[in-house]
Amino acid sequence: VNVDVKLGVNKFFVDEGNPHIELVENPDPAEFAKLEAACPAGLYKRDESGNVHFDCAGCLECGTCRILCGKTIIKKWEYPNGTFGVEYRYG
Ligand code: SF4
Repeated sequence: VNVDVKLGVNKFFVDEGNPHIELVENPDPAEFAKLEAACPAGLYKRDESGNVHFDCAGCLECGTCRILCGKTIIKKWEYPNGTFGVEYRYG
């Protein structure tokens, strides 16, 4: 079973309008590339024109992005408020 299928069994409760992770404006491309490679949920993306995209829905709350890039890219990193965020389901 591949990783995408396994991630698909998790459930996410998204706190719309209150993202638990926010990025700086115009993040450094080299730093952003690290996150494209490292985020286990693949949430850091770039389109064909090179524009960066991030959506914290689907975040596994692993903290990798915060540790890897800190304030160079991550403006805000908090755990989601109670009842929101990932719910791990194994099976
Ligand atoms: Fe991705 Fe982990 Fe950062 Fe969430 S905390 S955005 S899963 S690297």
